[in-house]
Amino acid sequence: MHYVIIGSGASGLKAAATLRENDCSGRLTLISRDLWPFYLKPVLADFIANRIDSKKLSYYSTAQIEQMDIEIITGRRVSAIVPEENSIHFSDGSVLDYQFLLIATGARPVIPARKQEYVSTFRCLNSLSDAVRIKNETQRSNKALVLGGGHYALEILRALHNLKFDLTFLTDERYFWDADHPIPADRVKDKLMSEKIDLRFNVDVVDVIDLDGESYRVVTNDGSVIDTQLILYAPLFEPNLDFIKDSSIEYKQGILVREDLRTNIPNIFACGDVAQFYDLNKGINRINFGWVSACKQGEIAALNMIGRDNVYISVKEEYFRELYGQELLTRW
Ligand SMILES: Cc1cc2nc3c(=O)[nH]c(=O)nc-3n(C[C@H](O)[C@H](O)[C@H](O)COP(=O)(O)OP(=O)(O)OC[C@H]3O[C@@H](n4cnc5c(N)ncnc54)[C@H](O)[C@@H]3O)c2cc1C
Repeated sequence: MHYVIIGSGASGLKAAATLRENDCSGRLTLISRDLWPFYLKPVLADFIANRIDSKKLSYYSTAQIEQMDIEIITGRRVSAIVPEENSIHFSDGSVLDYQFLLIATGARPVIPARKQEYVSTFRCLNSLSDAVRIKNETQRSNKALVLGGGHYALEILRALHNLKFDLTFLTDERYFWDADHPIPADRVKDKLMSEKIDLRFNVDVVDVIDLDGESYRVVTNDGSVIDTQLILYAPLFEPNLDFIKDSSIEYKQGILVREDLRTNIPNIFACGDVAQFYDLNKGINRINFGWVSACKQGEIAALNMIGRDNVYISVKEEYFRELYGQELLTRW
């Protein structure tokens, strides 16, 4: 039996460990397009801010994974899945067969089409590679513009504030802060203002001019011009599922899975940020972004791949926004 897991983040890694802990003796392959695969995303801002060492980012070493007899494929991207042939295809043209497949490819930032022209100047924070690149760029800068909203924007602002950056934050009232978050938007706003961040609501970028390869001139929709050295973008996220779009695997916003995390194809499961699971309590398919729910889903998907019959029930305490609660503003 060959079990293949695409994605070695929170849910993929938990699934792999669960398979081995439950006496699954089949061949097990874990695939990641990241070269350094096993790190904690929620502390990437602390890594940029020099608050934690890169060694503390890893929660498993490659050696520990190999001791569990898990084959690791890193630095390669899955570009297609052919369920009819039980095979996955990589962007380098190679093919890998499976008997059971788990898709755990997470989410990615959504870049609006109108920003495509100058998006290469933006930095998003969604992986360790992103964090390393941003960290390197902070060595030669002290001024940054942050665009977007929500938890990701707050984390980026926190990291750069720790590095004593001069910060401008352009946001939109609709995306500034999640209305359901335990911390009200006004408190977040007060916090940012008390930290002397230049916070501008309902201002967006209409153009970016690369001045000299080291700094940018940003033109906004209210006619302002902002010169800066770094532009960080914290947009909405969407499930990372392009590689299934030509396959028979059903998806809407995310990959559609039942409450047991199985897709419409019996030997293919999906979990974590990429999965739009059936929520038994709410009677709808929905996505539950976040580290804790990704781990829980990874565990349940793995158990069901070896024939158990578990269901994923989402509880409020595991929601992304609940995790740090009030503490979010005191970590600065
Ligand atoms: C900066 C930051 C801060 C965060 N803070 C929090 C927080 O405080 N609380 C919280 O709950 N959550 C937080 N999150 C979100 C949390 O990290 C995610 O919800 C969680 O990692 C989702 O787990 P996952 O397994 O679904 O996907 P991920 O952990 O994103 O893993 C996806 C995996 O899929 C691989 N992959 C993707 N596409 C392909 C492909 N085509 N081919 C091969 N491999 C592929 C990637 O390489 C990666 O290994 C944060 C995220 C970031 C980026």
